[in-house]
Amino acid sequence: MGHLEIVKYPDSVLRKKCKPVAEITQKEIELFNEMLHLMHTYSGIGLAAPQVGIPFRIFVTDIGEGKLIKLANPSIVKTKGGDKMAEGCLSLPEINVEIKRPSEIVVVGLNESGKVVEIKAKGLLARVIQHEIDHLNGKLIIDYAGMWKKMQLKSKLGKKM
Ligand code: ZN
Repeated sequence: MGHLEIVKYPDSVLRKKCKPVAEITQKEIELFNEMLHLMHTYSGIGLAAPQVGIPFRIFVTDIGEGKLIKLANPSIVKTKGGDKMAEGCLSLPEINVEIKRPSEIVVVGLNESGKVVEIKAKGLLARVIQHEIDHLNGKLIIDYAGMWKKMQLKSKLGKKM
């Protein structure tokens, strides 16, 4: 796979609706591992494949606490509650947007062995997983900004937004 790098906004790959993977092969396993490595290098807690220029439905998370997740073709099957928190993104350095999301989710997907797994998550982990799934649908944190926040972001991002 060579060396992956973090793709930054406004690269068009970040706006793609990513394709599901057909199966988990050695190639996907390598991608999971390289993404995790890159994410740790930049002190991120989540990273989605389009953020390394690969438009497939794959993401990794590690919020510490030993909860490391590698998931392909994720789908949220249940949500509960809701809370607001400021989120950042490795593809949008120095930008934070407060986002309201469900506080508890159940997500199903394929793990690195190609097995269907169900993950129950709440709090920060639920938030990160939802953030990464947004990436797979071409959605970014700036899309959640209200009118005033958008004006503020425009001065930071300039014509790119
Ligand atoms: Zn992000």
